[in-house]
Formats: sequence, C-alpha cells, structure tokens
Amino acid sequence: MSLFEKFQPIVDIRAELEAVGVMPFGAVTEKILSPTEAIVNGRKVILAGTNNYLGLTFDPECIAAAKQAIDELGTGTTGSRMANGTFIDHVRLEQELAQFFDRGHAIVFSTGYAATMGMGSTLAGPGDVIVLDADSHASIYDGVRLGGADIVRFRHNDVADLEKRLRRLGERVENTLIIVEGMYSMLGDQAPLADIAEVKQRYGGMLLVDEAHSLGMLGKHGRGVAEAAGVEDAVDFVVGTFSKSLGATGGYCVSNHAELEAVRFAIRSYIFTASPSPSVVASTRVALRLMQERPELRDRLWENAHRLYAGLKQLGFKVSPEVSPVVAVTIEDRDQSIAWWARLLQAGAYVNLVMPPASPGDYSLLRCSVSAAHSSVQIDSILDAFASLGNTE
Ligand code: PMP
Repeated sequence: MSLFEKFQPIVDIRAELEAVGVMPFGAVTEKILSPTEAIVNGRKVILAGTNNYLGLTFDPECIAAAKQAIDELGTGTTGSRMANGTFIDHVRLEQELAQFFDRGHAIVFSTGYAATMGMGSTLAGPGDVIVLDADSHASIYDGVRLGGADIVRFRHNDVADLEKRLRRLGERVENTLIIVEGMYSMLGDQAPLADIAEVKQRYGGMLLVDEAHSLGMLGKHGRGVAEAAGVEDAVDFVVGTFSKSLGATGGYCVSNHAELEAVRFAIRSYIFTASPSPSVVASTRVALRLMQERPELRDRLWENAHRLYAGLKQLGFKVSPEVSPVVAVTIEDRDQSIAWWARLLQAGAYVNLVMPPASPGDYSLLRCSVSAAHSSVQIDSILDAFASLGNTE
C-alpha cells in the first residue's frame, strides 16, 4: 500500500485527458493581453471564465498604486500580521472595508480562502454547531471540519430544510453558526437571504455569509446579496475576497461584533501566514474606491451577463437557473463536456470545465463568467464559439 495509491483515480483521469490531447485543469496562460484576452495553448482566446467581474486587473490607477507600493515598501512583508507583517496600509484597508460595509470591525487576510476557512474554523469549535448549505465552497467545508464543531448540512438554498434542522437543535441553536454564500460560485444562483435571515432571527444562532462573488455586483453600494435583500442587520459576519471584483488576492471579514477583535487573535490562518504584500494591498485599496466611484462598471457587467445568458439559452444550452455574471452550461455526459471544452478553446473561448465532485450534482459544467471589460462583440464571439459546437441535444 503506497501513499500514492489513493491518487490513482486522478492519475487515470489525467491519462485519459492527455490521450485525447486536452488538459483543461491548469491550462497555461502563456501571455495575458488584457483583462479579457490571453494566449493559451498558442492561441489568442477570449477569457470567459475568470472572476474579473469589474475588469480592474489592468486599471492604470490600480497598477500605479501597486508599483508605487513596491518602490516604497518592497515586494513583501515577510511576516505575519501578528508579528512584523502589519503595515499601516493593512490597517487603512481594514478601516476602508469597515466603512464600505458600514460595520464596526474588519480583518484583512492573505487570501479569500484563509478568510473563509479561518472564520469557519475559529468561530465554532467542539461543542458548537455549524449549519451550512450543502453546496458550500471548499474553503467553508475545510474550515468547519478543522474547527471541530458538529456539522449539519441543509439542502442547497432550501430554507424549509434549514428551519427543520435549526428546530431539531433545540437549545443548541444558541451555539450555532449558520453559513451560506451570497452568490454561489458554480451556477451563479443567489441564496434566499431574506428568508434565511428571517429563520435565523426566529431561531437564534449567528449567520456568516460568504459574499466572495457578489461584492461589487449586487446591492445599492455593491456590498452583495445581503444588501440587495435588505437583511444586512441579520448577518453577523460577512467574508469575501479581493481576488474577484477587486482584481488582486486577499480576503476579509467584517462584522459589527466588537468580539471580532478578540477572535482575530485566535484565527490560525491569519496568525500563521505572511500578510498580503504591499502592492496587493495598494491595488486593492484603489480598486475598492473605484468600485464605488464607477457604478457604470456594474451596469456593463450586468449588460454582459444578460447578453450571454440570453444568447446561450437561445442556442438551446441548459443554463443556470437565473441570470448572473456567472453562467454555467450543464452537461450530463462527462466526455462531451471535455470535448466541448477543447472545441471552445479552439474556437477562441476559454471557459472553466468543472466536473464532479467540484460541480454541484452529478453533471459537468462549462462555467462561463463575464466581466465589465468584455465588449458586446466579445460576448457575441463567445456565443459564436458555443454555436460552433452544433447540435446541443
Ligand atoms: N469563497 C468562495 C465562495 C469562493 O468561490 C472562493 C474562490 N473561488 C473563495 C472563497 C476563496 O477565495 P480566494 O480564491 O480569493 O482565496
């Protein structure tokens, strides 16, 4: 029995893909040309699967701020937030996030994964309960498993099932953390947060919402699904990332609970890792400001979302349940999803292939996502690539 034996299924899939000349996982971007174009496998393609929702990765102001930070502060902090790695700009970014979310407290993490995983593993421990949506992101699952709380899953977006499980907990609900995402990353569907908040208020417990995908996208100020649903007061903790709408890397948690300042000192993914580099913090701060100053980016994002969604539907593809900047095409036959991914790439559209267990359910997804930086012509080119797949039956 070798340590490597358990990886055999992965070895087999890789061999299978190589035999048909496709490597959808970790395909190498040889050159990045703009927020929406790159050279992949020697071809110029439209990037149709990034999370660059507002298209800010090449914004001149963000780039200038990052360059200046490198000149003035160096390439890295070489230390944890808890030791030598808290620079004044980390503190400023925390203040700006707290202000943006209109909350009292904020923590900046090195990645979104560290934020979600860290909060999930720290807030609820042995003897506590986590009740989470079954389709939660890996970072949520990893965190809650690490924390040692009892884990209860409810059916994806099923509030009646959530309620049933909270009811069954009886008094233990007091020590319960409910975790959901605002917008789900694979299908782009939104949590019914108004109903979830109502159930939470009735039964008790605390609510954490991962707004990784909805920042800058939804709500009057762009604070996400909770803001759009008008239930921010019922949300105890919001976590999210700088790696999508803000075009960098890093993560955050914001809350009105003053205890967050104590929790900070117990989060291992915050303590035992180097803090975000000065350039990352600098571009993130500018992106956070630009996101608020340029509502037209959001308008463009949603125009593109509607265009791609309507176009794919018209072509006869099975698309996600609701219009969203994330538009996933569902394919039941795994081999077909692999073949189509490769053909789309050849036709100039680079989308994400997602296969079980990463996709919710037993089917594969061609996960497309749009950016405010896509032109209508580019969206139409993505649609042309899908049309070239031919019969969608
Ligand atoms: N939460 C959700 C819902 C996500 O989709 C992701 C990333 N895909 C993360 C957390 C982790 O964020 P990051 O990639 O910035 O670490």
